Amino acid sequence: MSLAVSQEVLISRNPATGEEIGKAKIFSKEEVRQVINRARSVFQTWRKTSFDERKHLIMRAREVILAEMDEIAELICKESGKPIAEAISMEIAPVLDLMQYFARNTKRLLKPRKVNIGLFSLLGRSSEIIYEPVGVVVIIPAWNYPFSIPLGEATMALMAGNTVIIKPSELTPFVGLKIEEIFRKAGALEGTIQVITGDGSTGAALVEAAPDKIMFTGSVSTGKKIAQSAAKNLTPVVLELGGKDPMIVFADANLNLAAEAAVWAAFCNAGQNCASVERLYVEESIAKDFTKLLIEKTKKLKQGIGTQSDISITVLSSEKQLQIVKEHVESFKKEGAKILLGGQNKGLFFEPTIIADVNNSMKAMREETFGPTLPIATFRDEEEAIRLANDSEFGLTASVWTSDLKKARRVAEKLEAGTVCINEVLYTHAIAQTPWGGVKMSGYGRTHGLEGLMELVNPKHIHLNRLLLFPDAWWMPYSETAINTFKGFAKYFASGSLIKTLLLLPMIFKRIKELTKK
Ligand code: NAD
Repeated sequence: MSLAVSQEVLISRNPATGEEIGKAKIFSKEEVRQVINRARSVFQTWRKTSFDERKHLIMRAREVILAEMDEIAELICKESGKPIAEAISMEIAPVLDLMQYFARNTKRLLKPRKVNIGLFSLLGRSSEIIYEPVGVVVIIPAWNYPFSIPLGEATMALMAGNTVIIKPSELTPFVGLKIEEIFRKAGALEGTIQVITGDGSTGAALVEAAPDKIMFTGSVSTGKKIAQSAAKNLTPVVLELGGKDPMIVFADANLNLAAEAAVWAAFCNAGQNCASVERLYVEESIAKDFTKLLIEKTKKLKQGIGTQSDISITVLSSEKQLQIVKEHVESFKKEGAKILLGGQNKGLFFEPTIIADVNNSMKAMREETFGPTLPIATFRDEEEAIRLANDSEFGLTASVWTSDLKKARRVAEKLEAGTVCINEVLYTHAIAQTPWGGVKMSGYGRTHGLEGLMELVNPKHIHLNRLLLFPDAWWMPYSETAINTFKGFAKYFASGSLIKTLLLLPMIFKRIKELTKK
């Protein structure tokens, strides 16, 4: 957690203890411009490096992380407030895996690709796609995964040949600076990856400075501002925004495992995950028993300062976050829901809170809470479960729990989300090979996977004509013969049928003769 005390400095504090972690400067507009210029100039060198050179840098950075794992985990834990266990399991381990995957596979994933151009190839033409880096990639992440999100995106951008600027959240500047230090120690060419600390104004200045791509993770309201500002320069943006993710539990599910999963997905990182389970829909017939399981399992968890190894539930990141969680719990109560467990806070420590008798019309079932709350609603049948889950402006992830895999697949197809897990929940951001991103107000574009890599390159189409003997039939000047030939194209060539296209040959010869006569 950190607070700006002047125009120039952020003071970073541990949200669990209030202890000062350090002071970080707020980069000015002018400094932001300089950083962009440096990134642009280094890009000219970095783009020419081979995939092997890029791979070596990423693999060396991995080595630095492995050597300093405990120190990094402690910094993540102190600055974001999350448990040390999650700093390792949900940030360091997944990003190390992503780093090795993209270091080893980007060359293959971005291999130039021949395209089958159908009947055009009969004319001696061929097409190839090559993938070029976009240039300067700006990464503006949230504070809740301050290490793995920016580092993962930076790794993919660097492997694709881009230079990178990261503007960490004002709540976690030192984790951001650690990423820069890791690459410095790994021997990165200066300016290949730069980290600039600051608040929203620094982020806004970066967007205005017209980078070539913006990878944004954060709230819907900031995402809209960024999209608007980026539109002035037509800078493409990936928006990874909020969620209100539903979990559907059918009566035939493995209830014990589903309950453990729900508890983890609602309360890890004190519920401050974009893909937290924030709406639990349980089949009516098992709702009572399932709720009992949830309460039993939650009661066993210890809440406290994340640096202690036996702590599972920690602290909210800021006073602002606490106010939202309190307001949502109060609104649940006012609207007739029952608080079955928790509901209170001591400072920024908000108890894991289980809430029953909720429905979709309640305010806190519609807005993102981003805190340790688990509201439970019930449904009668498959159709109602789908309707309730889709009744949200968000669409990041969703999960379905049942032992009937046919039903699970049917439901998964109907859920409006970027990712649907069957008998799993939340964790797929850790799978480097699969795309991550949302639909509806959860944003657009993807990170991770081939789809995420494609966000960081410009596919360039190279088209070759090997038969440079005649003018193309569609060139000028036009004539009656030309129009008849084009009608033939429309009828025969455009049918995709080779046999029909052969019927066109006499007409094409006539047209070419007409063109070559001049
Ligand atoms: P936020 O929108 O307040 O801030 C995110 C980042 O944007 C910060 O670095 C901030 O300094 C910067 N910023 C603020 N104003 C800006 C502006 N005008 N121009 C440019 N940059 C600006 O979000 P937050 O509170 O840090 O994060 C919480 C949100 O992030 C939640 O809604 C959560 O769901 C979402 N999130 C989404 C994903 C995902 O993958 N979809 C992952 C993690 C978090």
